[in-house]
Amino acid sequence: MARVLVVGAGLTGGVCAALLRGAPLGPIAVWDKARGAGGPGAWRGVAWRGVAWRLTGSRAGGRMSTSRSPRDAACTADLGAQYITLERERAGPRLSFYEELLSHGILKPLTAPIEGMVVKEGSCNYVAPQGISSVVKYYLKQSGADVFYEQHVTHISLRDGKWEVSRKMGPPEQFDIVILTMPVPQILQLQGDIVNIINETQKQQLESASYSSRYALGLFYEASTRIDVPWAAQYITNNPCIRFISIDNKKRNIESPEIGPSVVVHTTVTFGSEHLDSDPAEVQQLILSHLEKIVPSLPKPASIKCQKWRYSQVTKAVPSCLGQMILHTQPLLICGGDGFTSSNFDGCIDSALSLAEAVKSHL
Ligand code: FAD
Repeated sequence: MARVLVVGAGLTGGVCAALLRGAPLGPIAVWDKARGAGGPGAWRGVAWRGVAWRLTGSRAGGRMSTSRSPRDAACTADLGAQYITLERERAGPRLSFYEELLSHGILKPLTAPIEGMVVKEGSCNYVAPQGISSVVKYYLKQSGADVFYEQHVTHISLRDGKWEVSRKMGPPEQFDIVILTMPVPQILQLQGDIVNIINETQKQQLESASYSSRYALGLFYEASTRIDVPWAAQYITNNPCIRFISIDNKKRNIESPEIGPSVVVHTTVTFGSEHLDSDPAEVQQLILSHLEKIVPSLPKPASIKCQKWRYSQVTKAVPSCLGQMILHTQPLLICGGDGFTSSNFDGCIDSALSLAEAVKSHL
């Protein structure tokens, strides 16, 4: 039976692994470079009004990540994707994914007020009360795959008719089928035979994909802290640094006196690109100073997390591909992800469906 490796435990990798369950394949492994859910993180220092902070690396759930307060695991914040939008008329086979998540309580309708949100006619927005990473975790669990975190894939090479996959730590392992779901520039960073296997046309297609960059801050508060604003989230249009602010627990409709509130701030793409390689402590300070001006009543948080999204949202998808690209057939090496469709739930589902279909028809 074919041994399968999915690289990337984000939404595309999770859904793809779940769709392959029951196919005549051997064991499926999912490797991700991120720390596992709730893994330890290094605290970097104390800044901004005496509040401890850290710059996070990649997180479980990929860009559908939920961070926890170091002081209270129940106080969480969605640092990447905020809500999921269903366009019923255009949903097609994706509708069943929404229905399943709604029936399990993983998604609930977004009812909290979001200022400046453009609601498309015929569309519904949903939040994940347990945090957006619960959507990814749902699919990883459904897949029955063995999920391993802190597995940073560096090389992919051919050996004895199989793929030999090397990671930063641990010995290389061999697989019959490898499915890559990370952002496209990270596929192009892989070393080994893969460099020569990707042909010139494919290379040009992959290189033409582009992503925006932005920062996200998560502010975590002690229980019983009150944040007195009339909105649950708002889009900001007149600030050079901040694009979006959310009172995250209010947005997810899980306000409770026992659990402290959390605030999420997303920067503008321009700010993200301009400060991509700046000192993270300075970036955080800058964002906080803008935040203080926009919401002067915001109380002092107990802790802060700063997330750099180098590959935030796809601004140009890989052209001329239907959600995936086959890089090699015998053995199969295939890549997908939102870079091959669009940066949202639907884009990931479309890519995962296309990846699973290609793998099944290859068997
Ligand atoms: P990813 O989530 O990026 O997963 C890829 C995984 O691969 C990651 O976990 C990464 O750690 C891993 N990886 C990378 N390189 C390696 C390697 N060498 N070895 C091992 N593992 C590796 N979408 C919405 O629907 N609604 C929203 O409101 C929304 N808002 C967003 C806001 C922000 C700030 C961001 C960043 C994204 C937002 N999105 C939103 C987009 C959505 O989050 C993404 O489209 C989706 O999460 C992409 O999933 P993916 O599995 O394709 O990729």
